[in-house]
Amino acid sequence: MGSIKTQSDLGFSTSKLPGQLFTNNEYVDAKNTEKLSVYSPKDGSLVSDKVPIAGADDVEAGVVAAEAAFPTWKAMGALERQLTGITLGAPFEAFGKFEVGLAAEAFRYNAGWIDKFAGEAYPQQDTFMRITRTEPLGVTAGIVPWNGPMGTVGLKAAPALATGNCFILKPSEKTPFAALALGSLIKQTGFPPGVFQVLSGAGETGALLARHMRIRKVSFTGSIPTGKLIQKMAAESNLKRVTLELGGKSPAVVFDECNLENAVDWCVRAIGSNTGQVCFAASRKYKAALEERAKAIGDPDKNETLMGPLVDEAQFRRVTGFIERGVQQGTLLTGGKRVGDKGFFIQPTVFTRVEPDAEIYRQEIFGPVSILNSFKTEEEFIKKANSTEYGLMAGVFTENINRAMRVASEFESDMVGVNCVSLSFLNAPFGGSKQSGLGRECGRNALEAFTEVKTVMINLTY
Ligand code: NAD
Repeated sequence: MGSIKTQSDLGFSTSKLPGQLFTNNEYVDAKNTEKLSVYSPKDGSLVSDKVPIAGADDVEAGVVAAEAAFPTWKAMGALERQLTGITLGAPFEAFGKFEVGLAAEAFRYNAGWIDKFAGEAYPQQDTFMRITRTEPLGVTAGIVPWNGPMGTVGLKAAPALATGNCFILKPSEKTPFAALALGSLIKQTGFPPGVFQVLSGAGETGALLARHMRIRKVSFTGSIPTGKLIQKMAAESNLKRVTLELGGKSPAVVFDECNLENAVDWCVRAIGSNTGQVCFAASRKYKAALEERAKAIGDPDKNETLMGPLVDEAQFRRVTGFIERGVQQGTLLTGGKRVGDKGFFIQPTVFTRVEPDAEIYRQEIFGPVSILNSFKTEEEFIKKANSTEYGLMAGVFTENINRAMRVASEFESDMVGVNCVSLSFLNAPFGGSKQSGLGRECGRNALEAFTEVKTVMINLTY
């Protein structure tokens, strides 16, 4: 999660925050007059109550502009469509260097694919030649969450645009500004009007996109319940293509023969940014490392801070609710308390001796809360790890290569780290199985998700 600065930190007034939608290469007032409010997670103060909510007329205007831009964008030569000019740097510093770096890198990476993402030709068997082309879908949309407001933009917009689609971005209502501020960069980079637009708003705006009859694809990152609604709306409208990147509950298994320093380091880092279950041989060491990390909770704007606050009061209440109920479901090993009396800071928290049917074991908490259980056999661990409906990420820590490969194949997670966990790469598929999602982002898979394969059959005897 990037750090969100308050109005006073940023040194400018609310009126300077982006307050308009970005459509057809212009900042425009939303036709819908309703506004959203956003608050600082550092101290709960109001940041702005003037975030535009794109309504049905605004979405329609965006789609019309994208449709008008599509034929030219689709037909544009590969070199002209290169996106390397986009630099997502300075104006977005407040949202975290990693995030911005990931977004910028995603644009560079996908730009490199533009003149390489080709179809195929099949071996000649008869008098017909068969070739495939990768065709863009048309007007596409990305609906993104608050916890990766810029990174997720890069992961969705870059492959969509690189493959010749027009793209409408709907940022989270909790973190709308960096995405809205993209408008001037989009224009400066030279995207033609209508190709890349930003419509802010809450769930209703997302639903307008998901239900729209002329939007051909929605790539969604967020919670499982919203993901299910998106898929339903897509099916009930025009059967638009859907990619879903949903929740996770990442298990990590740490065997005795592993490099313990390395395992502790990865698991502690993962819990700072993710929620997970850890099956550990040496819980004392893990507890000590987490307590060390707890010392580095604080102001997200200070360099020494490793963990900032949760995004808002709702998320804070959700996480503290899990912790309060968790005390009945297992043993609190460390953490569990609010830090300070302002803002939404919480200690990294670990429960031990939690049964697989407990709420904190089964549900995604999305806060710095992990479960540390011990195990005796591989079978026992795998059964527990696979007993949830999630399948996003898992990790195995061991120096026994056979065991590593065996466990990696047994995990019902579609991303598995060996001696590492909770990481991703732009050039390798990213996505989950079971209820953690549908489809893949990153690598060639992301481009495939924004295109249809067209088969062209040529009669050679004609
Ligand atoms: P969320 O589902 O509440 O919201 C995500 C987006 O969907 C927001 O832009 C929101 O406005 C929009 N939305 C809400 N209701 C909608 C509706 N009815 N129709 C259309 N759009 C709607 O999720 P969140 O709380 O912002 O994000 C946290 C969740 O995201 C967690 O569950 C987390 O696991 C998940 N996540 C997954 C990945 C991944 O890659 N798998 C990455 C980051 C976050």
